[in-house]
Amino acid sequence: MNGRLQGRVAVITGGASGIGRGAGLRFAQEGAKIVIADLDREAGERTAAEIRAQGGAAVFIRTDTASAADNDAMAQKALDEYGRLDILIASAGISHAGYDPAHPGSQRRCPIVDKPLEEWERVIRVNLTGVMLSNQAAARRMIKAGNGGAIVNVSSIAAIGPAPMLADYSVSKAGVLMLTRVLALELAPHKIRVNCILPGHIRTPMTAGLYETAQLMPPIGRYGEPADTAAALLFFASDDSSYITGKHLAVDGGRT
Ligand code: NAP
Repeated sequence: MNGRLQGRVAVITGGASGIGRGAGLRFAQEGAKIVIADLDREAGERTAAEIRAQGGAAVFIRTDTASAADNDAMAQKALDEYGRLDILIASAGISHAGYDPAHPGSQRRCPIVDKPLEEWERVIRVNLTGVMLSNQAAARRMIKAGNGGAIVNVSSIAAIGPAPMLADYSVSKAGVLMLTRVLALELAPHKIRVNCILPGHIRTPMTAGLYETAQLMPPIGRYGEPADTAAALLFFASDDSSYITGKHLAVDGGRT
């Protein structure tokens, strides 16, 4: 343990898997108590158990971040379980609607002219509205407690580089970037900082199989790991970035 988050409580959406899971494991090593919030109960319980097995504190709450009520219950869980809420990591997200579990990593790509409205609306609902709702639920409690806080959203390099055939994803992530900047100004008087990371190509279940078929190798010569994004999330979540808010950081091996 290094203790950079000693005494803090962190809620992590999408914490069951990939980037969120990596943050949970790392933050617990730094002394934070963790609330894992995710759609996937089995994987979420497993991640929380993993954190406890390594000597940390963690609980799981089944959460659909597209639901305002679920986000509210998720934020309340931190208070009920650990008495405070200092950090929110908003990592829950989908690469596209209509995901086919039989073909992990196979993003459903189609041009805007062919995009079914329900697919567009689902991606925006989870990736943008869901992040806003989680930020709102956490911020309300942080403001009430008066201890400040740190919110870190997980956007994507697709926010700053248009991803053809994935317009809904790209637009949702650009929205998260602007949400982060607006919220940073609104919450600054409450000493709540809001930043975001823009992952590039990180090896997670979301991208499983993708890198075997596509030529996406970043300039640095390897794909990213959840430990790489966890280090950047830790920077924004900890006091190391206490004078930084409304900013984004690409974690992309030089891609952008
Ligand atoms: P992941 O391994 O699929 O993890 C995402 C987790 O979020 C999954 O456990 C998923 O559950 C959960 N989730 C999805 N929709 C949810 C909802 N409505 N409410 C609560 N939980 C939900 O993917 P990841 O690669 O770690 O992605 C995490 C974030 O990073 C996403 O926002 C993604 O867009 C972003 N990102 C990833 C990369 C990359 O290269 N991996 C690059 C740029 C940005 P289910 O499995 O049940 O859906």
